[in-house]
Amino acid sequence: MYTLQRYILMTLDPVHIGTGGYRLGRVDLSIVREPGTNLPKIPGTSLSGAARAYAAMRYEKQRCAGPGQNNLNGGHCGLPTCPICYTFGSIKGSEGGNAGTVSIADAQLLLFPVHSLVGPVWVSTVSRMKEAGFTVTAPEVGCGEFTTTLPDWSKPLNLGWLLLTPKGDDTTVELVDQLQAKTSWKAVAERLVLVDDSLFSQIVNSNLEVRTSVSIDPLTGAAKKGALFIYEAIPRATWLWSDVVEDDYRIGTKPWPVSKKFDGEKDNAGKLLGETWKNPLDVVKSGLTLVEHLGVGGMGTRGFGRIKIIVDWAVSHE
Ligand SMILES: [Zn+2]
Repeated sequence: MYTLQRYILMTLDPVHIGTGGYRLGRVDLSIVREPGTNLPKIPGTSLSGAARAYAAMRYEKQRCAGPGQNNLNGGHCGLPTCPICYTFGSIKGSEGGNAGTVSIADAQLLLFPVHSLVGPVWVSTVSRMKEAGFTVTAPEVGCGEFTTTLPDWSKPLNLGWLLLTPKGDDTTVELVDQLQAKTSWKAVAERLVLVDDSLFSQIVNSNLEVRTSVSIDPLTGAAKKGALFIYEAIPRATWLWSDVVEDDYRIGTKPWPVSKKFDGEKDNAGKLLGETWKNPLDVVKSGLTLVEHLGVGGMGTRGFGRIKIIVDWAVSHE
């Protein structure tokens, strides 16, 4: 069975997924980018790691939470009836392991918030929105031009250092029905500004959250003298999308989730799980849902990393 589940996500905090590199240009701690477009992204591996850890909490499978191998408590259980190992895969010492049945793609930028003289607007491109599943009707824009869903807007638009020229006002954007009713969508639906792809990259990269912070001395707990560092992050209220693919190749060989011992609510020992589930996509969602409260990526202690699921739906299903 193959299912492609699309998630539309929104950051509730700045999100910093570091490259691990230091001193690149003006920032000390830079974030992961797509090689081709130079746009920031949230790697699928980061989302998958967070989803695994949080799902393991909910299903009370703490030993299966981490990446495996080095876990102090013996590594993954590796049981075919374990929702965490079945979904995300398992590694068990010298016995090897099993691949998971779900993969999470990198979350790509969809709507990027920018301050303008008329308040916040969300910038995107027609191709990006279409790729994420929106139906967009808009005139084609060249470099320096924009089209918008701002009602009755025909004036140039000032985005800080950039003055954009309007190109028609007959832009409409629609998405799947589930999104139309969401209040978070209503807040941005009439504040979209669509530009061409090269300008989008420039606007994003010059409007990233860039902050200066002090290093804390781990021994004294005090700020290190003179140890300031600058870091960047995807700002709060950024919309992204990610595809989660369930490829349940094991169906037919292992009767999961309809196991004789496992009814989807209890584990093999008859102990109640924290969550009911029917398939690996449910397990992923149970974990991703907690990212809204617990966050993903670095600097969680500084109030970073919370991401909310706005809507998800099956794009294809076989
Ligand atoms: Zn397990």
